[in-house]
Amino acid sequence: MKTYRQREKQGNKVQESTKGPDESKIKALLDRTGYTLDVTTGQRKYGGPPPEEIYSGQQPGVGTEVFVGKIPRDLYEDELVPLFEKAGSIWDLRLMMDPLSEGLVDVILYHQPDDKKKNRGFCFLEYEDHKSAAQARRRLMSGKVKVWGNPVTVEWADPVEEPDPDIMAKTLGFFLKDAVKKFVVTQCILLPVTSLLLYIIKIGGDYFFIYAWLFTLGVSLVLVTIYADYIAPLFDKFTPLPDGELRGNIESMAKSISFPLTKVYVVEGSKRSSHSNAYFYGFFKNKRIVLFDTLLEDYSPLNKAGEPGAGEPGLEPQPVPEHSGESDSTENKAKPKNKKQGCNNPEILAVLGHELGHWKLGHTVKNIVISQMNSFLCFFLFAVLIGRKELFTAFGFYDNQPTLIGLMIIFQFIFSPYNEVLSFCLTVLSRRFEFQADAFARNMGKATELYSALIKLNKDNLGFPVADWLFSMWHYSHPPLLERLRALKGAKQD
Ligand SMILES: [Zn+2]
Repeated sequence: MKTYRQREKQGNKVQESTKGPDESKIKALLDRTGYTLDVTTGQRKYGGPPPEEIYSGQQPGVGTEVFVGKIPRDLYEDELVPLFEKAGSIWDLRLMMDPLSEGLVDVILYHQPDDKKKNRGFCFLEYEDHKSAAQARRRLMSGKVKVWGNPVTVEWADPVEEPDPDIMAKTLGFFLKDAVKKFVVTQCILLPVTSLLLYIIKIGGDYFFIYAWLFTLGVSLVLVTIYADYIAPLFDKFTPLPDGELRGNIESMAKSISFPLTKVYVVEGSKRSSHSNAYFYGFFKNKRIVLFDTLLEDYSPLNKAGEPGAGEPGLEPQPVPEHSGESDSTENKAKPKNKKQGCNNPEILAVLGHELGHWKLGHTVKNIVISQMNSFLCFFLFAVLIGRKELFTAFGFYDNQPTLIGLMIIFQFIFSPYNEVLSFCLTVLSRRFEFQADAFARNMGKATELYSALIKLNKDNLGFPVADWLFSMWHYSHPPLLERLRALKGAKQD
């Protein structure tokens, strides 16, 4: 669809007329004639009625008015009245002011194709900034502005969604509070853990790397255990998913693959972004599922902010009307947009089927084992390297070799080529896991729902569906949407 900006511009630039009337000259005129002057938005009315001594009869009726056009914009009563007085005494003189010229940059008017003398019944006004345009729009819509007695219809040419200042203020407050909380929590964990690790390295003897590794393993197990119950709730609100169709379905699906589900939560992710997700956590027989409210179309507050009807349970998403080629595209009304966010219940179950696939296929355990093996290897190499003085001298530490600096140098700099290779291998593995989890959901009979859910999620998460293969191979832990859809579809046809 073309916007009006891309069209040929016609019409004249509006002259700038910021200069107002000379008030002293106006006052002199009023003193001389005894007329009144009434200035309102859009009009200056001189007389009407005139002073008694000029005219005291009835107000003149139809046929007594004369229209004078093409008056220069910088002429006012002080010059016009003496001019028009020459033709006879005046009942009133109404000088029409342009109430919209503030910030007006351009007026774009189109002719009718068959009759160049007529316009097409609409025009575009372009203002220097959004504020002037909004002001002019309000005035035009007030009903006071009429064109030859006809009210005008006003709409934004390119509809703009205006940010709500209240929401913006809240968002800033939320962001700052969040940043402070994050900093405090990180320090509370990082400081004691690092100090203890340094202490263990110091007193651990020749085999300190084993103790250091055991220590970090313990710390990560503790963090995984307490994270969901004690840390994540500091940042976001978790509420149990209420009893209902969705919860019943989730529970029976978990049961069907013997997933030891204990609780289902909804997290208020919509406060942060429109990104949606689902995950599970917990050890052994105590597993919990967390759904982002943005994933659930019946819960997402983002739906409630849209047009009426959106977000009400049971309402099917309204299809976006196709742009019919015949309609006048210059009638640039706001098209009803499908703002609906999130998935319906069968799609949510398909997404969960994928997530539970990760569990059933042991992906979570495999990832933990790999990361712990890697961590052990790193501590072992660290033990080999920490005694090398040249590492420290290379970074300017000639006289002493602080362990913390050693950790930084070895883990950040020495291991960085290795880390690149490792992260590439993990990315490849993760993509394999994603395909396997999709296949798992497909085998649960959820191929069609997962197909549409993936498309919706990609749209909600503002994902870009096309990826260069090399970029995607290096960076994407999840396969690009089209590849996943192809894999699902290919299998569906078998
Ligand atoms: Zn996955």
